Amino acid sequence: MGHTAVVVGAGIGGLAAAIGLSRVGWEVTVVDRTPELADAGAGISLAANGIHALDALGPGAAVRAAGRGQYTGGTRTPRGAWLARMDGAALERALGSPIVGIPRAELHRLLRAALPTGALRVGVTATAATTLRGGGARVECRTGSEPLEADLVVAADGVGSRLRSSLFPGHPGPVHCGSTVLRAVTERPLDLRTDFEITWGRGAEFGHIAFADGRAEWHAVLNAPAGVRHEDPLGVLRRRFAGWHAPIPELLAATRPEAVLHHDVAELATPLPSFVSGRVALLGDAAHAMTPNLGQGACQALEDAVVLAAALDREPGVDAALARYDAERRPRTTAVAAAARQAGRLGQQLTHPVAVPLRNALMRLTPSAVSVRMILRHAAWTPPLTSPFAGE
Ligand SMILES: Cc1cc2nc3c(=O)[nH]c(=O)nc-3n(C[C@H](O)[C@H](O)[C@H](O)COP(=O)(O)OP(=O)(O)OC[C@H]3O[C@@H](n4cnc5c(N)ncnc54)[C@H](O)[C@@H]3O)c2cc1C
Repeated sequence: MGHTAVVVGAGIGGLAAAIGLSRVGWEVTVVDRTPELADAGAGISLAANGIHALDALGPGAAVRAAGRGQYTGGTRTPRGAWLARMDGAALERALGSPIVGIPRAELHRLLRAALPTGALRVGVTATAATTLRGGGARVECRTGSEPLEADLVVAADGVGSRLRSSLFPGHPGPVHCGSTVLRAVTERPLDLRTDFEITWGRGAEFGHIAFADGRAEWHAVLNAPAGVRHEDPLGVLRRRFAGWHAPIPELLAATRPEAVLHHDVAELATPLPSFVSGRVALLGDAAHAMTPNLGQGACQALEDAVVLAAALDREPGVDAALARYDAERRPRTTAVAAAARQAGRLGQQLTHPVAVPLRNALMRLTPSAVSVRMILRHAAWTPPLTSPFAGE
């Protein structure tokens, strides 16, 4: 009889894990607490490592086709001066893929389409996972299902993971990183001059990612305590970013008020002691939620999925495969999370009246080849050589 897995969470990480496991012959059930998977969310940029992971899993070509290569843009000051230009063509030459911008809804749809028929069950809220004495693991559910048992449970239930707290009760869990993010997709296409921009003021960032259909996602990140909400968020942003360079006012003007999403940014500042507990593997934000400053959270979740499936396919047993998964993924994701935190502190979060101009001057002096090398540090990743998907 083949192996079975239950994946908890149908976000990017859980869907990718389920696709990977099914491609190496496992029978997979994915459960999500959401009764209906609403295709909401703003946009996302996927660096070459995320795209290569998607290639290994299967949907890479479809994601490239639906997305938009991010070739032009960079980092600016609120008045519009360039601090650094992005050389998307150089990145593509070095890594084999440009960064790809895509609406999250579209990415989710393409991942769901790659699942085996009937694998996804919605309206199932998991509360805990335990390893069974005789082998395998069990997921307790509050709604939507009797307990579920399988050879392996993948906890991909996001930054606020219930399964993680059930497995590591002593771990402090996610913490607020000091920033809050408001974002939306514009209602209509805009004539944007660049694919991708980030603008840093003091303690504030505004950025956009252009999509293939001419619409764009924008995000505004502000230093703020957790829990602060506004009656009219779009109005607040129009005032906060008044006077910032084009196309910032145009992006805000092209947005419906009800499209604006507002979240505080949380991260797992204390790394987990392991991504594995018995027969439960943690994956994606449940394992290593990081700040969004490098645009790597989902890319790392996609890498997790490929490495987990490859290890299960190649190692002699499930326990050996899980040990390999933990050994490969924990050091890399811990390093990327630390770099993302640092990028946030030196970028969006910086407010000091001397430090901000100093940082800006250093950025202007940094040759573009050095900036490209910094991006390569995180985005240069190839699926494991032992990947079962290579050459398909
Ligand atoms: C503002 C912002 C911008 C970002 N931009 C980028 C970017 O450009 N590029 C990039 O690579 N990354 C980016 N990220 C990070 C990326 O969004 C996340 O790392 C990624 O979405 C995590 O996916 P996941 O599947 O691990 O978790 P999630 O997407 O959180 O999915 C978890 C799923 O589990 C379900 N769930 C939760 N609890 C339960 C339960 N108890 N029972 C059953 N189901 C449950 C939820 O409904 C959800 O569907 C960004 C993050 C933020 C906040």
